[in-house]
Amino acid sequence: MKGFLVVGLLTAAVIPAGAAGSISHKIPPGTRAALQEGLDFLEAIKGGPVPESALHRRFFGGPVSGGTYVAFVDRGLKEYIEFDDPRPGEIAAVYWGSGKVSITSSFEKLELVKRAAVLIHEAYHGQEDDMEHVRCPKHFVDDEGRPIVSDATGEPIAEKYACDEDADKAYAHGYVFLMNLAMNCSNCSEEVRSRALYWAKRSYHRVINEDARRFLKQDSADEGR
Ligand SMILES: [Zn+2]
Repeated sequence: MKGFLVVGLLTAAVIPAGAAGSISHKIPPGTRAALQEGLDFLEAIKGGPVPESALHRRFFGGPVSGGTYVAFVDRGLKEYIEFDDPRPGEIAAVYWGSGKVSITSSFEKLELVKRAAVLIHEAYHGQEDDMEHVRCPKHFVDDEGRPIVSDATGEPIAEKYACDEDADKAYAHGYVFLMNLAMNCSNCSEEVRSRALYWAKRSYHRVINEDARRFLKQDSADEGR
């Protein structure tokens, strides 16, 4: 598909012990704790016998494992800072070229799997300096015809800049992370795996190009071969 770039240059870095980004003490304690829980969750992930998908290897440069995800997050997010004046629905935001990510108190309300997915999403923005989303369609509904809504507010996001066109952007990274977690995390509970699948589907819907969607679906279907 046009515009699809192979992200294959990630090298296997030395695996650090835990995320290395600094966390500002200006972030309120509850949000800071939620952030740390998200990072700890990512670090503890262990893969099973099923190999990761091809896109997972391309995006994250390694297998389903805490080391892979901590290295990925560390490459994009160097500094976690407070969010002074968030708009409703904002969970986190990366500042172009800075490696700084602001975390809002909405982050605290998210379940653990979703916190981890947000960190992967923001780390993609931080690494690629790719901040742009495209406008979601006017008629923006899921497979059952229900309006697709914001993860933070539950409000419909038709015509909001909260979608991606291509299969290699932030929402695709979230989808591939979550699908691989659902299929291949060996130390996740059934509940965590089923929530990963739930959030994977929601990330998938944010990729609006049909070819890109087919490509992502095929990657999951190929998983484990
Ligand atoms: Zn984004």
